[in-house]
Amino acid sequence: MTAMREALIDLTAIEHNARALHRLAGTRELIAVVKADGYGHGALAAAGAALAGGATRLAVADLAEAVALRAGGIDAPLLAWLHAPDETFAQAVAQGIEIGISSLDQLFAAAAAGGVARVHLKLETGLARNGIAPQDWSAVFAEAARLEADGALRVEGVFSHLSNTSAEDDRVQVRRFEVGVAAAQAAGLQPRVRHLAATAAAIDLPEARFDAVRIGIGLYGLSPFDDRDSAALGLRPAMTLRARVAAVRRVPGGHGVSYGYVHRTEDDSTLALVPLGYADGVPRQASAAGPVSIAGERFRLAGRVAMDQFVVDVGDHPVSVGDEVVLFGDPAAGAPSATEWAEAAGTINYEIVTRIGPRVPRVPVRSAEDG
Ligand SMILES: *Cc1c(COP(=O)(O)O)cnc(C)c1O
Repeated sequence: MTAMREALIDLTAIEHNARALHRLAGTRELIAVVKADGYGHGALAAAGAALAGGATRLAVADLAEAVALRAGGIDAPLLAWLHAPDETFAQAVAQGIEIGISSLDQLFAAAAAGGVARVHLKLETGLARNGIAPQDWSAVFAEAARLEADGALRVEGVFSHLSNTSAEDDRVQVRRFEVGVAAAQAAGLQPRVRHLAATAAAIDLPEARFDAVRIGIGLYGLSPFDDRDSAALGLRPAMTLRARVAAVRRVPGGHGVSYGYVHRTEDDSTLALVPLGYADGVPRQASAAGPVSIAGERFRLAGRVAMDQFVVDVGDHPVSVGDEVVLFGDPAAGAPSATEWAEAAGTINYEIVTRIGPRVPRVPVRSAEDG
């Protein structure tokens, strides 16, 4: 490697993960979720790889994310579901972006946006985020049917989102969703795409699969479960975060390291400086805990993570300026995992990859098809 710091993005892994999860779910459609810059991997690259792996649709949270994908040349069906209070949907309709609808106001705005709005009605089934409340279902469905008959919109889908609290809680939401879908159909709507499951339920809850699954974390090769890792799910982590040792220093025992001296060397030791800090998404909460691999050897970072850098106390291991330091990647290739970093920082692997900062270049790579 030549860059000081970089995130390798394995497009072959993303393709593989899309294909593997689509096959496992057995649904007609697979919706690849590329919000938040593709969970930090780069939305455009992730979208392209997911489509190459057979994804039939893409989804993001914000319309601005969808518009950016269109500007990047993505013309696949594309859904956005989290909107500003005064959103008019004019740009969404003009660009053929499908709109997640969580209220009657949003339905009217979409219908008035000038064109035939393609919408997915989002039903609140228990997560308590956005979504049409059950007491409003019949009014919204009736208006949607009327607007559809008028040619102002087309109800492409009906969807909801699970809490992943327990199989029992998720099944309660599945049943509410089925009631909602039946009510929509009774109102004269014919949504072609009923979708409920994200990665966890796509894998573990067959009755939540319907016509499509919305795959986020699994697309990037990470596990949403505490008890099964990527390999156990047949997934390949797509991001490898690495840097080159920027400086080494030999110090005597008892030497304090980094801010606050929360680490002191036990004996004569070599300290390696790694040019990645919390500005780059290395969590400060993982101070003195986050794992790294240098020349195949495992270490934990020493002392506090700073804004731009952290230190590894490598003892007497021969480490030189320019050596490669891998923070996380595919454990099958010997790297620590994003999940280990999550555990070290008291968070989830989603947050580790999503928060990798803009100073870290994303470098697309391809790997062997069957890794
Ligand atoms: C983020 C998100 C997803 C993807 O969830 P994963 O657990 O990453 O697969 C799916 N649906 C909705 C509504 C989301 O907000």
